[in-house]
Amino acid sequence: MSAPDIGALRAQFPLLARTLAGDKPLVYLDNAATTQKPLAVIEAVDDYYRQYNSNVHRGAHQLADHATQVMEAARTSVQRFINAREDAEVIFTRGTTESINLVACSWARTFLKAGDEIIVSALEHHANLVPWQMACQATGAKLRVIPMNDAGELDLDGYRALLGERTRLVACTHVSNALGTVNPVRDIIAAAKSAGALVLIDGAQAVSHLPVDVQALGCDFYVFSGHKLFAPTGTGVLWGRRELLDAMPPWHGGGEMIETVSYETSTYNKLPYKFEAGTPHIAGNIGLGAAIDWFTAQDRAALAAHEDALLAELTARATAIPGLKPVGTARHKVSVFSFLMDGAHPHDVGTLLDQQGVAVRTGHHCTMPLMQRLGVPGTVRASLSVYNTRDDIDRFIAALEKVRKFL
Ligand code: PMP
Repeated sequence: MSAPDIGALRAQFPLLARTLAGDKPLVYLDNAATTQKPLAVIEAVDDYYRQYNSNVHRGAHQLADHATQVMEAARTSVQRFINAREDAEVIFTRGTTESINLVACSWARTFLKAGDEIIVSALEHHANLVPWQMACQATGAKLRVIPMNDAGELDLDGYRALLGERTRLVACTHVSNALGTVNPVRDIIAAAKSAGALVLIDGAQAVSHLPVDVQALGCDFYVFSGHKLFAPTGTGVLWGRRELLDAMPPWHGGGEMIETVSYETSTYNKLPYKFEAGTPHIAGNIGLGAAIDWFTAQDRAALAAHEDALLAELTARATAIPGLKPVGTARHKVSVFSFLMDGAHPHDVGTLLDQQGVAVRTGHHCTMPLMQRLGVPGTVRASLSVYNTRDDIDRFIAALEKVRKFL
């Protein structure tokens, strides 16, 4: 593993070259919200619209064949990326939120009954909490929550105590978007399996930082968004085991998801189309394939080591600033440094950083129960990706020093 050439990699992301706040170089530290897009993705989308824009699967002409072939190749890229057993287990969605809602509407509302239990963790994004609350309201099932310590690490003994014969599903994030905690998903999955429960892993924050092999993990569903993985917005994936997806009813009706239709009734298409009603986000899915092909062509282990080194440096230097308090200090983290500054609301810190060209996220990060558990109104969150540099860290720290003097 040799040191990656981050300068050459950055040059593939046109947006990173722009300035902000007049002439300040952009320091983009909002990667947990969405990543920037490399030329490989921008050009793949551009090429689709310029060269072969047409609808997929039903066309009788060459453009439609071409679009179908490239979009289905993107599905194969996803299948290889997460080591799914087959392409048909890869459902294209609009993102993590839609993927979770699909399982909550289709699987949970069909198979759960009053008294059943779903376990989520204290670290969940609202996307992996609210759909389960809604499914519980509809079915009479109950939601239980894995506790955590003040560092933002899940309490596995507390988790095991919650597991029992009523547990039907464990829905847990792989990486926390608010704190960066990497959860021990292998242990979480293994314990759920011993209790006979299914497991859904929310990989929204994991896929661009950690290798994911759904078969080795042993989970039942794995979900993620394209836009946090260098791909266009409005794209995402639900991976599920075939037996489960086959047993689940469709959730959206319409074109593409049917086999035969009469006025009285319909029969449904095979996987994955059963869950893909209507015209898909063809350009986006093609962009997702291009993003995965681009990412997997990199030395991902070297890029992960680069990111980890940056996170360690950022954490050490920022924590040394008087009045700055890190929020979330788990031993195993990726990408995210969340913090508060004495005497300042997170939004004010964010605005002052923005004026210096530094883009971060502030607020509750769609994790209101987690913020409540930590006793904070929200945080300032800096999050790294593969293209960040030491220079970004220097500018971020200098900007924080200025904010401190201003307060
Ligand atoms: N889960 C996690 C852990 C996330 O970070 C996010 C996005 N912030 C989501 C779910 C929702 O993703 P999307 O908005 O792309 O559907």
